[in-house]
Amino acid sequence: MVASEPALSVVVPIYNEQSVLPLLVARLRGVLDALGEPYEVVAVDDGSTDNTPAALLAARREWPQLRVIRLRRNSGHQPALLAGLMRARGDYVVSIDADLQDPPETIAAMLRLAQDQNLDIVYGVRADRSTDTAFKRWTASVYYRLMRRIVGNHVPAHAGDFRLLSRAAVEALRELPERTPVLRLVVPWLGFPSGEVTFEREKRAAGHTKYPLSRMVALAADSITSFSAAPLRVATWLGLAGVAVCGLLVAVTIVAYLLGATVSGWPSLYLAILFLGAVQLLCLGLLGEYVARIYTAVQARPAYYIADDTRATAPAPAQVS
Ligand code: UDP
Ligand code: MG
Repeated sequence: MVASEPALSVVVPIYNEQSVLPLLVARLRGVLDALGEPYEVVAVDDGSTDNTPAALLAARREWPQLRVIRLRRNSGHQPALLAGLMRARGDYVVSIDADLQDPPETIAAMLRLAQDQNLDIVYGVRADRSTDTAFKRWTASVYYRLMRRIVGNHVPAHAGDFRLLSRAAVEALRELPERTPVLRLVVPWLGFPSGEVTFEREKRAAGHTKYPLSRMVALAADSITSFSAAPLRVATWLGLAGVAVCGLLVAVTIVAYLLGATVSGWPSLYLAILFLGAVQLLCLGLLGEYVARIYTAVQARPAYYIADDTRATAPAPAQVS
């Protein structure tokens, strides 16, 4: 590795955070300077419209390790984070929110754990959600339960985007052909050895949240559809159910007819309507099955990752005579 590459990069997505910026700079710098290792801070200005860009450039004059990447327009937290990750150069890369909800002091613990146990990923896991509203607590618990079901139990519950990645993990992310991965799901899915550090999520130091309900819903929709084709299959199951009900009603109608208990004309009418509806749903479901496969093919995620191959490292085999 080239000597000029820092041991640690800290990626901070920032959108209209002029009020927290001075607090962030002071606290983050204190923590990082104390580490005693070369580092860089990659501040990604996500198209801020307040005084953030000027404040970042001013901070940079005093703090040479601060690197500022400005996105042309507001692209959202996940894309901003990704932009920073893709450009970070450190052996380890930590992503952290700008609002000091993720305490920078935890970075030292993450780095130590990764180095001591040779881990590629260290998740920051919230000790509790006491600083959240009841609504956010409830939606988060539903979200993580659903995601663990869809993606797998290796998705840590209540781990957001405060985490450490090794260079290898960042490179694996970079090689994913997907343009808009949901990082908190794709990172565990990469399958690297990982650990957790718990932390107390603090209250926002200043300013207000940039994550309104609409963005939470969008993140949930991205999360589900990027790992599951189940919604596309709803039509298939509805169609099958319709066909089954239709069959049952045919039997009931025949019996009723034999008993002379039907008004002539209406059984054929409702059966035709029900049958056609069911067939249409089935066909929609069939289309869904193909769309799902096209979607997976377009995502082009590798089917597996090899952790180790003894052939690559094994000594030459002994001579057999
Ligand atoms: N953020 C961003 N672009 C956006 C929205 C948010 O870069 O479009 C940043 C924001 O500046 C902060 C982080 O993403 O550093 C998390 O946002 P926020 O604290 O508002 O979310 P919350 O903690 O309320 O979920
Ligand atoms: Mg926040």
